[in-house]
Amino acid sequence: MPEASEADVLIIGGGLVGQTLALALAAHDISTLVVERADPEAHLAEGFDGRASAIASASARMLRALGLGDLLDGEGCPIARIEVAEGLHPEILRFDAVAEQGEAAAEPLGIMVENRALRRALLERVRQTPLVRLVAPAAIGTLVRGPAAVEARLADGRQLRAALAVAADGRQSRTREEAGIRIARWSYPAAAVVSMLAHARPHGQVALELFYPSGPFALLPMRDLPDGRHRSALVWTVSRRDAAGVSRLGPRAFAAEVDKRLGGRLGALETIAPPVSWPLGFHHAERYRAERLVLVGDAAHGIHPIAGQGLNLGLRDAAVLAEVLATGARTGIDLGDPALARRYERWRRADNSLTAFATDTLARFFGIPGRPVERLRRFGLGLVERIPPAKRTFAAIARGTAGDLPPLLRGELG
Ligand SMILES: Cc1cc2nc3c(=O)[nH]c(=O)nc-3n(C[C@H](O)[C@H](O)[C@H](O)COP(=O)(O)OP(=O)(O)OC[C@H]3O[C@@H](n4cnc5c(N)ncnc54)[C@H](O)[C@@H]3O)c2cc1C
Repeated sequence: MPEASEADVLIIGGGLVGQTLALALAAHDISTLVVERADPEAHLAEGFDGRASAIASASARMLRALGLGDLLDGEGCPIARIEVAEGLHPEILRFDAVAEQGEAAAEPLGIMVENRALRRALLERVRQTPLVRLVAPAAIGTLVRGPAAVEARLADGRQLRAALAVAADGRQSRTREEAGIRIARWSYPAAAVVSMLAHARPHGQVALELFYPSGPFALLPMRDLPDGRHRSALVWTVSRRDAAGVSRLGPRAFAAEVDKRLGGRLGALETIAPPVSWPLGFHHAERYRAERLVLVGDAAHGIHPIAGQGLNLGLRDAAVLAEVLATGARTGIDLGDPALARRYERWRRADNSLTAFATDTLARFFGIPGRPVERLRRFGLGLVERIPPAKRTFAAIARGTAGDLPPLLRGELG
């Protein structure tokens, strides 16, 4: 029988959240085994995940503390301003980093980065970190969570052992299902069509969120292409019925449809990545823990991308779990002790529930067709624009700086 590999924590799923968690734990001298079913190189291939993510300020501070500052500075595009409007209506709600904090203190409202670049940087960092062992590609055959430890047997017969298992295996988490943790779940009658466009005029680091009857239409600033052309990422919510048709439009027709919704604001447009559609849904686990198991990231919650917060919630889960386990390790507590899992769950539940509720409400409110509701939405946007405390609250939620932050989200290693 092969000897079991051992670590303090077994992370199931080496996506963006699983790998970040492994680095955060290593920064606190906690060792991990990360089991990922896909070949990591396949995850870096062109066309695997053409999405880009808005990394909120608090998440960016954590990624910098974990050694990913070069990625954010070299490949990320700071968001200096967010403009929200009902279609092309001139009444606009603006969030401005400089107006909010002053020139000297201004930290961007977020940083746009391609998921592929983030995956590549995380993988490089993981490979350089002795306390993290990536086991991939590998499939878990059986997972036994006993009173003394967690034991996993891989499909190829290898055995792994740890004090705690973490499910970071995404929306369809098998680990969550096998633990009998139920989820509240529903589908939106919508899909997000994601693409990348080059454009003649600079975006000025402005993120646009325009609301159309089919849902939000977001154009997010990206770093210029090597040949100097300006570039933005598109997340365009359309009805599920229309998603296939919109994604099949040829590059010119697609750019023309986008341009119509932008009112020509960015000059001539060129589609530089084939549009891909993602069905949109919501889910939230009834609890984040079972015996010697906790859930993080999309395994615990999945939300509408209307505010670009899904990954950020997962990164905040990772920061809090690292803090809770580091405190446990310092005081010599078994990392599988239910008291630690309970503390993690209590700390994360409120933020995740509030953000899930807010994004669900926004997605529904902005999805209702008809003129009276349109007027009400414009009134709402104008109201937030004119009430500075309301604006500050929304900005803090977008930045991920609201609530009780662990040291990593303040950019400290603890
Ligand atoms: C259109 C769209 C736009 C978005 N934009 C943003 C944005 O701007 N900002 C933002 O914060 N969020 C955004 N999100 C949300 C974000 O993409 C997700 O929340 C995030 O990717 C979740 O990461 P994760 O690591 O938890 O899960 P995943 O990325 O799903 O990773 C799970 C990993 O586990 C592996 N796995 C699965 N099962 C097993 C198993 N049995 N054994 C081993 N490994 C397994 C998978 O291969 C995968 O690598 C967006 C989502 C969508 C759909």
